Amino acid sequence: MESNAVVQIVESRSVSSAGASDRIVFDLPLRTCDGVDTVSVAVADRPARLSDLVPTARTLADLAAAAAREHLGSTQTPVACRAGCDACCRYLVSLSVPEAFRIREEVFALPAEKRRMVLDGFITASQTVLNARGPVTSRPAESAEAPLERTDLLQELSDWYAALSLDCPMLDGSSCGMYDRRPLVCREHLVTHAPSQCADRDATDTGHAVTLSMSLAEVLAQWSAELEGTDPQAVILPLTLLWTQDNRRRGEQTWPAIHLVERLAAVLATAVERSAPEVRSGEKSEATEAA
Ligand code: SF4
Repeated sequence: MESNAVVQIVESRSVSSAGASDRIVFDLPLRTCDGVDTVSVAVADRPARLSDLVPTARTLADLAAAAAREHLGSTQTPVACRAGCDACCRYLVSLSVPEAFRIREEVFALPAEKRRMVLDGFITASQTVLNARGPVTSRPAESAEAPLERTDLLQELSDWYAALSLDCPMLDGSSCGMYDRRPLVCREHLVTHAPSQCADRDATDTGHAVTLSMSLAEVLAQWSAELEGTDPQAVILPLTLLWTQDNRRRGEQTWPAIHLVERLAAVLATAVERSAPEVRSGEKSEATEAA
């Protein structure tokens, strides 16, 4: 995590509190399959955008996914997902609003050659999606967002998208070209079947996807919706650059960083309260549906 980041994960609460007088330390609750944990973050007292908290959410998602991997690794059903496997990289990936703005910033911050490659991927993917005129994209670009509770529409959209067999715009060969900055649903999508079965969506539907104890993708969508006063929304990855261009004022809005982290802690606490204590393999999660 960047040293000047608005929110920094801290290893030791006491050391950080003493050493960072311009920062306030908060404990964020997180449910993993090992139980309820807390992750301490040091927050700068300055304005922040929704996208500034995405790295924190990624860290929490990675911790939950790592705990699930470790737990399932000790059973008969270890997680099959590995770096370099692109078996699920033609599924529809949906982003929370903060992630959409973050990924836009990260794409435009790439070195020139890599940026050109990723931008070409986005142009190809967005043109294909818009020309194919699917269940959502047959309407204008702003309709690329959809309330998350509309699961029928998401399922229809997901099936329609899979039929396009379209490479993810961030795919580089057979690896994720932005692996450290990949979306939360990619971090949370784990399967225990052979990678070859991922190409067969029916195999995933009948179940070898891992259901994590809680989903950071859903937490972030809920958190940003509360702050913006909207319904939870998802932006489909191929249309991210178009959507964020159309909604750039939302991406530039700031709040006091301390308020953002206090609200995130509250949404996480609610999610922990509602979460299942164990990780399960064999059912398809909502986050996987959206992906
Ligand atoms: S963002 Fe990366 S991991 Fe996720 S679908 Fe695209 S290429 Fe695959």
